[in-house]
Amino acid sequence: MKQEILTAVLMLGFMPASWGQTDGDGKLVKTEASVTGGSSYTVLGATPQEEELVRTQIQVMQPEVLPLRIIFVPHWKYVETARIFQLHVPAGFTSAMFTHLPSRSVFIDSDRYESDDSLGYWVAHELGHLAANSANESDADKVAREYRKRLKQARTEWR
Ligand SMILES: [Zn+2]
Repeated sequence: MKQEILTAVLMLGFMPASWGQTDGDGKLVKTEASVTGGSSYTVLGATPQEEELVRTQIQVMQPEVLPLRIIFVPHWKYVETARIFQLHVPAGFTSAMFTHLPSRSVFIDSDRYESDDSLGYWVAHELGHLAANSANESDADKVAREYRKRLKQARTEWR
């Protein structure tokens, strides 16, 4: 798994400093697992507006488990990354993001999400995967329902 992550990161063309310092088998995964409950995460590849938006939405949703990093990537990189992580993405499937659970990384196809609201809607689903610690879609959606309620509530208050 570690090899796959590093390969993906090298492919993506950016590597956070902390990732470059790991050596020895399994160290990366162990380090990342041990910081569960931390309150900060990194947003990579986003415009300042996208970063502010996604951070605000996550603050509103108050997820039980935060991602370690949220990575916005152009469509071709997204497809390539999904392939490296061996995700099954059926042809025509409109998913614009996915979560890699072992590294608590959420990848967002920056060419595909359609609006601020759809960004929040799907991020809720990815946060659901993290909170449930499950790759199962219905587990993620069960948690996401609560997060979406909080988003909806906040939108009503803002307007
Ligand atoms: Zn999912």
